[in-house]
Amino acid sequence: MVSVADENARVIIAGGGIGGLTLALTLQQIGVPCLVVEQVREMKPLGVGINLQPNAVRELLELGFSEIDLDRFGVPAREWALVGLNGQEIYAESRGRFAGYHWPQYAAHRGNFQMALYDRFCRLAGEEAIRLGCRVTGYDIREDGSVAARVDTPSGAETIIGSVLIGADGIHSAIRAQMHPDQPPIHWGGAVMWRGTSLARPIRTGSSFIGLGTHRQRMVIYPISHPDPNTGLALINWIAEVTYDDPSARDSTGWFNRVELDDFIHYFEDWTYDWLDVPALIRGAEAAYENPMIDRDPVPFWNDGPVALMGDAAHPMYPTGSNGASQAIIDSRVLGAKFLQHGVGAAALAAFNDDLCKPVSEIVLRNRGAGPFGLLNMVNDRCGGAFENIEDVIPKAEREDFMAKYKSAAGFARDSLNAAPPTIPAGAWLASSGHG
Ligand SMILES: Cc1cc2nc3c(=O)[nH]c(=O)nc-3n(C[C@H](O)[C@H](O)[C@H](O)COP(=O)(O)OP(=O)(O)OC[C@H]3O[C@@H](n4cnc5c(N)ncnc54)[C@H](O)[C@@H]3O)c2cc1C
Repeated sequence: MVSVADENARVIIAGGGIGGLTLALTLQQIGVPCLVVEQVREMKPLGVGINLQPNAVRELLELGFSEIDLDRFGVPAREWALVGLNGQEIYAESRGRFAGYHWPQYAAHRGNFQMALYDRFCRLAGEEAIRLGCRVTGYDIREDGSVAARVDTPSGAETIIGSVLIGADGIHSAIRAQMHPDQPPIHWGGAVMWRGTSLARPIRTGSSFIGLGTHRQRMVIYPISHPDPNTGLALINWIAEVTYDDPSARDSTGWFNRVELDDFIHYFEDWTYDWLDVPALIRGAEAAYENPMIDRDPVPFWNDGPVALMGDAAHPMYPTGSNGASQAIIDSRVLGAKFLQHGVGAAALAAFNDDLCKPVSEIVLRNRGAGPFGLLNMVNDRCGGAFENIEDVIPKAEREDFMAKYKSAAGFARDSLNAAPPTIPAGAWLASSGHG
């Protein structure tokens, strides 16, 4: 039985996505009670591929997941490569442990990963610590400094009181809309992605992330499962992407609408190489989903007294840098660290905001400029995409310098990550939470 005093002390998390559930597990780990309020009535493994960078995998391992656990919903990535339309390599580098990080990088199935977070949280905190089918619509800051979340539940409107409220409610965040009522609408630059998964034989290293094509029309392909030992086939995530000159010509707010393969396969019909058959890969999918590549203009702050934003609610970004999910995980761990330092309240949220809002907002804008795929723009600008030898177009040192700058800005530069102390020290426990 939870007492009224405990209820007032708990953290309310709006949204049980990747960020909200990682925060819930972090709070559970350091002894802070929390309640997750999630709008869907039933948790289902939605979405296709995401990347978990070594900095995020490190946090998952410190949360108690083992690499065997991670192998159930993903596969360690060995390589990241860009290939021109002529099928020739532009740039390739090793990833994760293969590149000297102390932790692997994982290519994962988003839905199965979310279910793993959900199952673990229910097991550790009890199913009553997450309320499904409940939508947070806004908040009121109370005189004593606590917060009241306004929630639509299946049985009507309700007010839920907590010491702080964290908006982990994604790109269409209701908390952000209240905190920043004048924020501009969703930003769309004209690129549409069609996503799907197909069973196929992995290419190149067997676990390579491949960006193929040009800045305006490309395929991203990577496996998100280990190959079946009998068939050699793995679940291959693919994203077919086209940029339109007139963005206003299409709906730009939808998210994961199911579409027919014939709606877009014609853009990629002649993309066949002796090492890859793109149309065959696309045809191998049972379903494809269309979603526009959208983000939001950064906001100047993520906190309002006892309320803060995290994950996509704070910094929705183009997936070009493969760091949306990783940054949501980092946010949750930094929040946990700030609670340990400052106690659960507005001071911790202000410190979280001071550390992350500015640098992560810069990543949002950098990803808009194509992120690491910016190399494809450079190839396009310098030779229109046709080259015999990439050295004549962009010398190796320049390619490496470009990628090093991106990784440093995104927080996954190898040496500084390897040398960094844990975000949350092992065994850390918030004494004042009265648990333990
Ligand atoms: C269904 C779905 C599928 C996705 N598929 C992919 C994919 O295939 N590849 C990819 O790169 N990224 C995908 N994403 C986005 C990706 O998960 C995020 O960019 C990233 O993981 C950051 O996570 P987040 O927790 O901040 O946001 P999200 O993962 O978007 O989670 C937000 C959560 O908040 C809930 N929510 C929203 N509003 C409210 C509210 N008012 N009250 C209560 N709950 C609310 C949502 O139902 C969701 O569970 C998907 C997101 C969703 C929601």
